[in-house]
Amino acid sequence: MSRPIHVALAGNPNAGKTTLFNYLTGARQHVGNYPGVTVEKKTGVCRHQDTELQVTDLPGTYSLTAYSVEELVARDFLVNEKPDVVLNIVDASNIERNLYLTCQFMELGVPVVIALNMIDVARSRGFDIDSDKLSSLLQAPVVPIIARSGQGVDRLLDTLVAVSRDRDKEWHPLRLSYGEDLDQALEDMVPLIEESGLLTDTYAARWTALKILENDDQILDRAMQADTALADSLVTRTEQITSHLQSTLEAYPEAIIADHRYGYIKSILRQGVLSQRFDADRLYTSDRIDKVVTHRFLGPLIMAAVLFGLYSFTFNFSTIPADWLASLFALLGEGVERLLPDGPVKSMLISGVIDGVGGVLGFVPIIMFMFFGIAILEDSGYLARVAFMMDRVFRTFGLHGSSVMPFIVSGGIAGGCAVPGVMATRTLRSPKERMATLLTVPFMNCGAKLPVLALLIGAFFSAHQARYMFLATVVSWSVALIAAKFLRLTVLRGPATPFVMELPPYRFPTFRGLLIHTWERTWQYIKKAGTVILGISILLWAMMTYPGLPDSERLRFEQQREEVRVGYAAALGIGGQADEKRSAVAQEMEKKLLAIDNEQAETGLRRSLAGRIGLALEPLSRLAGFDWRTNIALVGGFAAKEVIVSTLGTAYSLGATDPEQPSSLKDRLAGDRNWNAVVALAALAFIMFYAPCFVTVICIAREAGSWKWALFSMVFNTLFAFMMAVAIYQIGTVLGMG
Ligand code: GDP
Ligand code: MG
Repeated sequence: MSRPIHVALAGNPNAGKTTLFNYLTGARQHVGNYPGVTVEKKTGVCRHQDTELQVTDLPGTYSLTAYSVEELVARDFLVNEKPDVVLNIVDASNIERNLYLTCQFMELGVPVVIALNMIDVARSRGFDIDSDKLSSLLQAPVVPIIARSGQGVDRLLDTLVAVSRDRDKEWHPLRLSYGEDLDQALEDMVPLIEESGLLTDTYAARWTALKILENDDQILDRAMQADTALADSLVTRTEQITSHLQSTLEAYPEAIIADHRYGYIKSILRQGVLSQRFDADRLYTSDRIDKVVTHRFLGPLIMAAVLFGLYSFTFNFSTIPADWLASLFALLGEGVERLLPDGPVKSMLISGVIDGVGGVLGFVPIIMFMFFGIAILEDSGYLARVAFMMDRVFRTFGLHGSSVMPFIVSGGIAGGCAVPGVMATRTLRSPKERMATLLTVPFMNCGAKLPVLALLIGAFFSAHQARYMFLATVVSWSVALIAAKFLRLTVLRGPATPFVMELPPYRFPTFRGLLIHTWERTWQYIKKAGTVILGISILLWAMMTYPGLPDSERLRFEQQREEVRVGYAAALGIGGQADEKRSAVAQEMEKKLLAIDNEQAETGLRRSLAGRIGLALEPLSRLAGFDWRTNIALVGGFAAKEVIVSTLGTAYSLGATDPEQPSSLKDRLAGDRNWNAVVALAALAFIMFYAPCFVTVICIAREAGSWKWALFSMVFNTLFAFMMAVAIYQIGTVLGMG
């Protein structure tokens, strides 16, 4: 006879545990107490074919937290005695609440077999449960039974034996997402716990971290005993996140975690697991809203309307503060112009610092408004529904439902960032689906691309700003999905894995929470502009200024100016002319002088390091309609996309300083002979899809575990983007749109 199997029978009170236990073990029972506590411990044996099963009836619990003795006993038994399999009995007529406990077994990572009990009751109440579907979504066996009559119990025993004999199946702890804030906290805590080996012989690091966030007394005590310093710092982190959640969502971490568990369960049940033959009074407000909002036909329409509303809101209202900021920086520039003597310092301050950073900061209002809108969607829970609806689409393109979040974070709703997006792919379990997501999220319109898109759209398609921004989003999604499909059919071929996503209940966002979320993200953007961008902006200014013109050239321009002045001196110097005429002549002279200034500046930029790179690339880039100045900006964009705007600003302020012309870069581009609507479209396509910024590239390398993929991403994206830009420019020009 083979080795006996240890089975722990667990479930909610009244799920039918005692009934099943008695059915299985009959008279062969022992009753005692768990050591140290007055909780009844019943054990018994049962024989199935040639295998002996030793069954322990755990106390009935709703949860695995440390709030009651029963819960403590149950989970201590699981981690200390390590039964071969947990037989989780689930009341099918109360499935949503019962699966909450199941969910925690899965998070703990113990082998679970689910006995779906009372299916007779469920049926009589009008529920049908698809146990096969439930099983494939939970990735654990599910056997429907009726404990009172013993129906299905034989199959249940077969399954128990099979699972505990199957040494090949690995039980990985279920990784749920608990919302951005808590996920980040877990991300921070887990490596610390792993490093010091805190309780790791008993619990997975993530589980310990989760329990500390849930304020679990027992785990806290044990952690304190094992490593006081580390435990203290984990508690401090927890306090931090608690007060953050208090001020943004007015909820404790425990509540948010529970919300996400229920969301996970809900999303399993709504994927065709649970069907109701009649509409009982069981639909809560959230479900009622979801009936409309995630409706097969209405849902996508509502979603499109909401997203378009977000764009209109952002672009219609943010222009007012954006204009204020622009005039502020213009004033600053004028001030420096007046106060400082001509020379490299002044040139650097105006062209490097003020134009560069001002160009980027000028877009802060847009980003603030956009993030405010996104915060409303996110805090209310609607964003999760967007993900839920997008899931159907994602499957067709060889991606996983969990890919949606990385895409949205990266700028699926324009204004994210590919860096956290790339890191958010960690929730994907299948390596190939993860890689395909990782490589395509940089196609989204991140916050850094927004200023460039807004600039070009504002300059050439100003009549339809909102429409074009919306179009840019649609195009980026389509291209990303097609690229993902392409990757999944070629270098990343492989099967799909089942998908479950969390749908937390709707909440009314608090105004305070919205402000905090908006500010956090805006501040990140500003910090980037203030440090990385400032440095790069100055570096690029230097590249555009040096080595500069040789003395002989400078002298030549000086001579030309002198000639003009001498030529007009006679006309101006002789008295007896009407003032009007005299000033007209003076203006004419100024114009000639300015033309010489411009020529000198342009010659200087051509000779500079950046100009040489831009010029060298021009024969190639002309295929897409880009001149050498645009090339300089695009090369700078490899460093960070924000730099594109500031570099264009610098390049154009250095090259054309006509004071008569309005100083805004937008107007300068619109008026430049190298630019037109077709070039703008080609540039838009190129900027949206060429190599990710270097921070993202570094993240890709780290997440993919090799530089090969990072390099692939740079080369693949740039080639692809260039081909697109060339196609647009060539076709557009032939059609005469330029
Ligand atoms: P426990 O609290 O988990 O031990 O639950 P019990 O075994 O005491 O069962 C609670 C009630 O549900 C009892 O009245 C059982 O007779 C009843 N019950 C258990 N299983 C079934 C079943 O499959 N169908 C029906 N209709 N009733 C059941
Ligand atoms: Mg009982």
